[in-house]
Amino acid sequence: MIRQNHFAKLEQIKKNKLAAGLLRDRFPKVSGIVIQMTYYHGSHQTLMERTVNFCPSDYAYFNMACMTRGCENGGFDLSSVIRNLVKKGGKSAKGEICCEGHSPDLGEGHASIAYKVSISYAHKRSPGLKKSPQLTSF
Ligand SMILES: [Zn+2]
Repeated sequence: MIRQNHFAKLEQIKKNKLAAGLLRDRFPKVSGIVIQMTYYHGSHQTLMERTVNFCPSDYAYFNMACMTRGCENGGFDLSSVIRNLVKKGGKSAKGEICCEGHSPDLGEGHASIAYKVSISYAHKRSPGLKKSPQLTSF
C-alpha cells in the first residue's frame, strides 16, 4: 500500500514536471537558476542544507519536497518566487516558506525552509560583433 502510494506520488511529480515545461521554453532569457535552501525541523532546528541547480534544459519545476517522513502533499513551492523574479529581471531573492502538508502525526509548521534564489540571464549579443564604422568607411 505504502509502495503504491509512493509510486503514485512519483508519477504525479513526473506529470507535474512535464506540465511545467522546460526552463528554456518558460524563461528563454534565463541561463541558469541556483536555489540554496536550509531545511528546518519545526522553526529552528536545522535539518539539512541543499543547493539545487537548474539549467535551460531542465524542467521549470520548482516545487521542493518536504523532507519530513509522513508528510502528505507537503513541500515548498518556489514557482511564484521565481516567476516574479524573472518578470522584473531580478537576480536574487530570499525568504522563508513553511510546509503546508498535513498528516495525523505532524502538526502545522512541522517544517520550513529558508531559501535564496539566484538567477543568471543569457547575455545579449555583444555589440562588438557588428562591423566597426571605421572599417566600413575605409
Ligand atoms: Zn511537510
